Amino acid sequence: MNIKEMDKKYVANTYARFPVLLEHGSGSLVYDDAGKEYIDLGAGIAVTSFGIADSEWAAAVTAQLTKLQHCSNLYYTEPCAELAEKLCELSGMKKVFFGNSGAEANECAIKTARKYSCDKYGPDRYKIVTLVDSFHGRTIATLSATGQPDLQAGFAPMVPGFIYTPVNDCEALKALVESESGICAFMFELIQGESGVNVLSQEFVDCMVSLAKEHDILLVDDEVQAGNGRTGTLYAYMQYGFTPDIMSTAKGLGGGLPIGACLMGEKVQDTMGAGTHGSTFGGNPAVCAGALNILSRIDGKLLADVKAKGEYIVKELSGAPGVKGISGKGLMIGIETEKSAGDVLAECMANGVLVLTAHGKVRLVPALNIPMELVEKAVAVIKAACA
Ligand SMILES: *Cc1c(COP(=O)(O)O)cnc(C)c1O
Repeated sequence: MNIKEMDKKYVANTYARFPVLLEHGSGSLVYDDAGKEYIDLGAGIAVTSFGIADSEWAAAVTAQLTKLQHCSNLYYTEPCAELAEKLCELSGMKKVFFGNSGAEANECAIKTARKYSCDKYGPDRYKIVTLVDSFHGRTIATLSATGQPDLQAGFAPMVPGFIYTPVNDCEALKALVESESGICAFMFELIQGESGVNVLSQEFVDCMVSLAKEHDILLVDDEVQAGNGRTGTLYAYMQYGFTPDIMSTAKGLGGGLPIGACLMGEKVQDTMGAGTHGSTFGGNPAVCAGALNILSRIDGKLLADVKAKGEYIVKELSGAPGVKGISGKGLMIGIETEKSAGDVLAECMANGVLVLTAHGKVRLVPALNIPMELVEKAVAVIKAACA
């Protein structure tokens, strides 16, 4: 049995994989088992922030792996404490809970929001407003938060207490806050990645922030995908002029190893006491050592480059034949194409460029340090595929 057949036979059928077996790579280049080279604009779905097999990150992880790879959360370790400190210093948040995925970061965010409200107002104030077409994860609670009925189908009943409101519609949100009792939080992605790189408007964010302030509703910002430099600032909220009460992040933080972080702001920093939450692998020293390396390299110069490369891609593709629209910030880009996104993806793949799709759009989330020459080459391939 070859690898593809073996995978099909023994790995659960939850993924419709492309017929490509990736073997190794370096930076933004990746190679399949036949030695074919691809420019990687997917970065493992916005995960490998500094590309594949990045040597600095690998050295940081390896040094920790050979020192202490795991010891459980019964004890202190240096990488976990240092990563939490760094995240708080950089974000202005106060405390961090570590898990192993975006869904887990969001589970913690949901629990923290409910507990804050329960402690302050009693158990009836637990509802969380999320957005239509949002994506918050695949666990039962985060799937319940996800405003996509097709993803929820077959898994009923959902966890109660989630209400969905349309993106960028302040009037609808206002009406909801007036008509529903018991709302404790708004949970949102500032840029909806999985549903096609939809950017929240400044006006809508201002609307959420002012309603939240007025009603002591918590702002829960899901930056699992948009965080860690991807949009041209360390976190996307930094471009919107507010600070969330709770922020979750994951994907790009670990540079390729599993991590999720739930950052708690001033209001909720003491909400979760000893025994209220936990994770066996959360805060793993080797993963945290890698994440520290990633964060230490997301500096002003890199963020300026992320913006410049994003602007170049948008400029090149805007108005190009077959391109109907383009959205996003920094290196998180959605392209609406005349051809189906799947056809564009297949043509790019045949021509040595890996892209993603999201709700009928082509999605680009390359490594933050992708070399400009590769961006130029890849854009030419995408242009040809769209035309
Ligand atoms: C990917 C993603 C998640 C889920 O993360 P997992 O690591 O797959 O659990 C949650 N929220 C957003 C915005 C995401 O993009």
